Amino acid sequence: MKLKNKDLSVRDVLELGNTDHIVGKMRVRELLESVPGVGKIRAASLMEKLGISLTRRIQGLGTHQMVSLMREFPMPSTSMRRGKLIVLSGPGGVGKSTIAEKLRSRNNFYVSVSATTRDPRPNEREGIDYFFLSQEEFSKRISNDEFLEWAEFAGALYGTPRAGVEKSLSEGHDVLLEIEIAGAKQVKAHSSEAILVFLQPPSWEHLVSRLEARGTDTPERRAQRLALAQEEIAASGDFDLVLVNDEVDNVVSQLVSLTA
Ligand code: 5GP
Repeated sequence: MKLKNKDLSVRDVLELGNTDHIVGKMRVRELLESVPGVGKIRAASLMEKLGISLTRRIQGLGTHQMVSLMREFPMPSTSMRRGKLIVLSGPGGVGKSTIAEKLRSRNNFYVSVSATTRDPRPNEREGIDYFFLSQEEFSKRISNDEFLEWAEFAGALYGTPRAGVEKSLSEGHDVLLEIEIAGAKQVKAHSSEAILVFLQPPSWEHLVSRLEARGTDTPERRAQRLALAQEEIAASGDFDLVLVNDEVDNVVSQLVSLTA
């Protein structure tokens, strides 16, 4: 049996060996030698390391040996594909969080939780909406290079913790960052693989009424956010893609199609 020309992984063959008598009779050594990039020498040294005799057949493997072998060969889905990094920006109130939540719950995206120095809003939870940090703690994390990007927005600091994003991408998970424009540009400057998407409101009036309905900001803060929104919309030309948020499910499916 050759793995090279089949879609079977080492795990598949080991599992099959429990039920299929012919596969069970196969020597472990032959199986390992058939794995692309392993070969005779690596197969022998791996077996020695795991305490498996060179003549052992799949059906003769002990549970412990089986588990250690499976650990040596992770699932193809986690070892072969690198996840896609999508950065979603757009003015506050345009509906980014609703889209992020759908991608997280329905499409299995890793949605990064940012750190910020602003105060929590009444409905926000620590570690779910944001990590709320003091100015001092935020500065410490900047010095330790713990942020993939960070920026100042409307008088507060916001940053994307680097570790979770990098781990998820390398494990093959698609990642969504919901951040403002300056941060989005920093991400693109460091990783050209990132896809920058700008979310536009269907109209300016629509955005104003969404921010007013929110009711969590003071009038000054709201005016500041609207001025920022105008600047952001003007900068949308730097993005790879501009989507109009007229229909949430439509935007979600366009974002999912970017990961194919
Ligand atoms: P809000 O205070 O309304 O939650 O967020 C204000 C702005 O900061 C939004 O445009 C949001 O996308 C952005 N933001 C949230 N987290 C981050 C982050 O980690 N980095 C950057 N650069 N912007 C962020």
